[in-house]
Amino acid sequence: MSWMDDMWINTKSAANAVGQKTGEVIDRSKLRLAIIDLKSDLSHKYAVLGKLCYESYRTGKDYAKEMLALEKEIADMNVQLSALKDKLAHLQKKVKCPSCGTYNPQGALFCRQCGSRLAGAAAKEEDSQEELLDFAEKMAEEEDI
Ligand SMILES: [Zn+2]
Repeated sequence: MSWMDDMWINTKSAANAVGQKTGEVIDRSKLRLAIIDLKSDLSHKYAVLGKLCYESYRTGKDYAKEMLALEKEIADMNVQLSALKDKLAHLQKKVKCPSCGTYNPQGALFCRQCGSRLAGAAAKEEDSQEELLDFAEKMAEEEDI
């Protein structure tokens, strides 16, 4: 399965190249491309995993070791994918839902996927409540004079 290892190394180095630029302004389109590449590699891994599963079922041969190795690679790639998506969403100023992880447009009050209240919305509401309290205090002070 050396071709799979080669592919994995290529994927890793591509993702690392993006990771090394942390702190720099990363072009959104480059991030999108890295995400597309990683997704494509991931779906290929899933296909190989499926084929191993099928072959194991068909021939009775035990591929548990290979399947476990693939599962670990897939888990690592999903972590990388999630990190890339977070970076892109950050550049796009999108808000990630704390409940389901869906990215929502900037300024959204509730998650478009699960309806949970978004963290940014709560902070904004607190801000406006504070502003309202400040305003009320100022009004009260002015009335005293
Ligand atoms: Zn949600």
